[in-house]
Amino acid sequence: MVSDPGARRSMPGTDPVTGPTRKSNRRVVMTTCTAHGAAGFTNLLVTKEGGFIVLNPHVGNCCILRLDEHAATAMYHLFGEWLGYEPVSAVDG
Ligand SMILES: [Zn+2]
Repeated sequence: MVSDPGARRSMPGTDPVTGPTRKSNRRVVMTTCTAHGAAGFTNLLVTKEGGFIVLNPHVGNCCILRLDEHAATAMYHLFGEWLGYEPVSAVDG
């Protein structure tokens, strides 16, 4: 648990422009790439750009997936189904 905002500011990967306290449309998710997975993990950069969710594996711009609202919603429901979550409309906290 990190409670010191100064400590968070010095963490690697913190965007110096947006800083740790502003809401960011960028997230890095630790994943595994089976094609280039020699290092054991892959950083997947997930950003929200306008009406699109953009997936940038390796944070390297080598292959970028742009999901429009329809595709992102499909993924959301698919992941929820596979992870065993109830549909959003049935969840009340
Ligand atoms: Zn890869």
